[in-house]
Amino acid sequence: MRLLLLSDIHANLEALEACLHAAPSHDQVVNLGDIVGYNASPNEVCERVKAMGSPVVRGNHDRVCSGLSGLSEFNFVAAMSARWTQTILEPEHREWLRSLPQGPLRRDDLPGAEFVHGSPRDEDEYVLNSSTAGQDFHLPGHADIIFFGHTHLQGGFAYKDGKTRAIAPLYRSSQGVAYSKFTLAPGERYLINPGSVGQPRDNDWRGAFALYESDGEGPGTVTFYRAPYDVELAQQRILDAELPERLATRLVLGR
Ligand code: ZN
Repeated sequence: MRLLLLSDIHANLEALEACLHAAPSHDQVVNLGDIVGYNASPNEVCERVKAMGSPVVRGNHDRVCSGLSGLSEFNFVAAMSARWTQTILEPEHREWLRSLPQGPLRRDDLPGAEFVHGSPRDEDEYVLNSSTAGQDFHLPGHADIIFFGHTHLQGGFAYKDGKTRAIAPLYRSSQGVAYSKFTLAPGERYLINPGSVGQPRDNDWRGAFALYESDGEGPGTVTFYRAPYDVELAQQRILDAELPERLATRLVLGR
């Protein structure tokens, strides 16, 4: 099984196309949410993601931009972009976003894995450090490998014998398409974040995603990827839409 993991595309069509172009062959795609919000191509990105036919866990921006949740939890810039998205979103895409399931999602063909936007206990929780991850690893009844998004930080956490450690990909190059392979160890449990396709915040502007491979024998491998994209075009679309300029400048900084 080769599973492509996408998360936090955030209406960035240029980044989505570049990531899909750079992605290795795979059997299935799972999407960890936040299809829309922040960037300027929500309808085009909904179209593309729907056409993939892959399972999608809803994200907080999907809820707010489709009117399922209010704006009160959002900062000023996020609220501005959510209001703009609400006005431009085609009704069929709004309905589709509203219908997306809350995590955790599971798959019959991968019983050892589950898929969430924030964390297994709270779809809006940011798993940013080992202390939060450690509390999630202590929850009963969850899979050994949990794929999550929401933080826009590629990597994750491993847990064994009561200790939690952070995992981060190491890339040989900050240019072009790059990948970093991580072998999962038997007896360890994992929280794995493929990173954000459309608004990375780990100081690398390239779009992020991951491939999970399992042959059913061991726990498998996770390969983290980065793919450069036409960031100037994504920025121009943001400025043309009269969205806050900060949303354009942050893309090149990867922040
Ligand atoms: Zn997000």
